[in-house]
Amino acid sequence: MSLADPIIGIDLGTTNSLVTICDSTGPRVIPDPAGRALLPSVVRYDRAPDGSIRAVVGHDALAQAPAFPQGTIASIKRLMGRSRRDAEAELPHLSYDVIEGPHSTARARVPVYDPGARDGPHEWIVRSPQEVSASILSELRSRASAALGAPVQRAVITVPAYFDDAQRQATRDAGRMAGLDVVRIIAEPTAAALAYGLGAGLSRADGRERTIAVYDLGGGTFDVSILRITPGEGAGEPAFFQVLSTSGDTHLGGDDLDQSIVLHLLSEAGDPAGAALARLAALPGDARARLVEAAREAKHRLSNEHAALVRCELGPGRALEATVTREDLDRLSSPLIERTLAACAGALRDAAPALEGEPLDGVVLVGGMTRMPAVRERVKRFFGLDPYAGIDPDQVVALGAAVQASILQGARRDALLLDVIPLSLGIETVGGAVAKVIMRNTTVPARAREMFSTSVDNQTAIRLHVLQGEREMAGDCRSLGVFSLRVPPMPAGMPQVEVDFGVDANGVLTVTATERRSGRRADVQIVPNHGLSRDEVERIERDSLAHAREDMTRHQVVDLVTNSRLDLKWIGDRLARYGSLLDDASRASLAATADALRALVEAADADWRSADVKALQAAKAALDRGSVRLQEIAITQSLREGSG
Ligand code: ADP
Ligand code: MG
Repeated sequence: MSLADPIIGIDLGTTNSLVTICDSTGPRVIPDPAGRALLPSVVRYDRAPDGSIRAVVGHDALAQAPAFPQGTIASIKRLMGRSRRDAEAELPHLSYDVIEGPHSTARARVPVYDPGARDGPHEWIVRSPQEVSASILSELRSRASAALGAPVQRAVITVPAYFDDAQRQATRDAGRMAGLDVVRIIAEPTAAALAYGLGAGLSRADGRERTIAVYDLGGGTFDVSILRITPGEGAGEPAFFQVLSTSGDTHLGGDDLDQSIVLHLLSEAGDPAGAALARLAALPGDARARLVEAAREAKHRLSNEHAALVRCELGPGRALEATVTREDLDRLSSPLIERTLAACAGALRDAAPALEGEPLDGVVLVGGMTRMPAVRERVKRFFGLDPYAGIDPDQVVALGAAVQASILQGARRDALLLDVIPLSLGIETVGGAVAKVIMRNTTVPARAREMFSTSVDNQTAIRLHVLQGEREMAGDCRSLGVFSLRVPPMPAGMPQVEVDFGVDANGVLTVTATERRSGRRADVQIVPNHGLSRDEVERIERDSLAHAREDMTRHQVVDLVTNSRLDLKWIGDRLARYGSLLDDASRASLAATADALRALVEAADADWRSADVKALQAAKAALDRGSVRLQEIAITQSLREGSG
């Protein structure tokens, strides 16, 4: 049976990518004509005989990388949706130039290899991460079209759970450039859970929801997520997948272990530990690449064998021969595994409020590195659970994408996907404070609404500044966009501005502001041109904790100053109008109370740190109490004026 307009699943990985399809026999990988499932996420650009530029993608580009060090683009996923500045930390890990493109975006700058003039001067080109990813996606798309015998136009693509709006949008754009309609972006851990059918067949009848951990150790990154799976309302109803927390390290993976193995091999071959590093650095690039490859092969063999003999040519007449044992590997990998478990502990801590002390129901292993027995053993001990490992760990995410594709295709209806918003979203209020509208870790799609007003008379344009972050002041959060709502002039406090935040299933944010009295409306769709890495998300969280007390105080002072100013203005207006109706003593005392508050407000406004919050609160309360009589008079008078 073939599908008319099939939806494929794609795992667009940092190291490797895969394409999958779900048919009547279930989800399966679509291999290349040579039978290989994985496509290395590596791209090079060559000049074709007809003069056009041709992308060389996958195994060939990877195998020939030592010959084309500057022109081989690997790990492009690290730059997706990032600015050049955001990408700074990635540069030491990349072999190619990264420059700044339009809107401060990061771009790869590489030479185009001309086989006709291999040693001659090369032309340099600049490619966006989306374009490079599109080259990988095109390769997968044509692989699928050829295998299925029908043109493929639609895909579900997976991304890390912590990818933000900009990174998800960049992934969609890459799909579009490859001629794919990206019908859904889903989180990698969610895909892994779907591949295991977790959620399928769960029903309310057998009770509670399940929580699982997804441990994903790949070539260069480690991610752990805690997921909650909530059964659907009735039999056959979709289950909900919710990411409760994520943690990890964007620079921790199999590549680090490969490096340790290389150093081990050099010292086994006679170099003392310190000299091994120097010797490695002194090796020509291609010899070093061969050595890393030999180390990686040994690592793979040791997942099934107890010792591996390594032989590697380092140069003319120079060969390295050494043995690595399972014990060596366990020792070398131990610190790396330790770091992954520390991140697991962090993810469990973050999910603790939702877990309410209940133990996890399962652990899913993802990523090629989880084939290592040492990794499996330590993960099992850490969680106290036998991990799910039945599905090939480097295919499990892609297979889950195919399951999601078949759900969207209408073939299955047993899961609905939800993700979380990594950082709180809010709006700037008077005095530069932030009102959070959607809190971090809220599942998407999400929707929330807040009412605001003005603090100045006759404002005709209300500026709406959308922010992301955990801090209390706008200046300490990340600006996502500014738009303005035009309103008819009204006294301060009169306009009723309803601000509505909606985040769709793909994480795209739409903010709508409506002034209720006039019905005026404005909105903005936020597709930021660069995103935040998880490191930054973590830094923002840390900062917000470090500044929590200070931020709270500042927010409090700003609110007190704003509200006191409104009170003072109101009372000033009423005193001017109806003051003559008060007795002299009351009028003088009210004016003195107002002056006292005004002095505190001025001081607090000049320097919020030295503001005396208690004194401000007391002075504001005193003015409230002292103005009761004036308010009564004002109301009576205005009623009289109204009726007269
Ligand atoms: P990514 O998600 O970063 O694209 P993968 O999930 O494909 O990465 O994992 C790649 C990593 O898994 C590499 O470090 C590779 O050496 C390692 N790996 C693959 N197979 C094995 C194996 N049999 N034993 C140990 N490590 C393996
Ligand atoms: Mg992966």
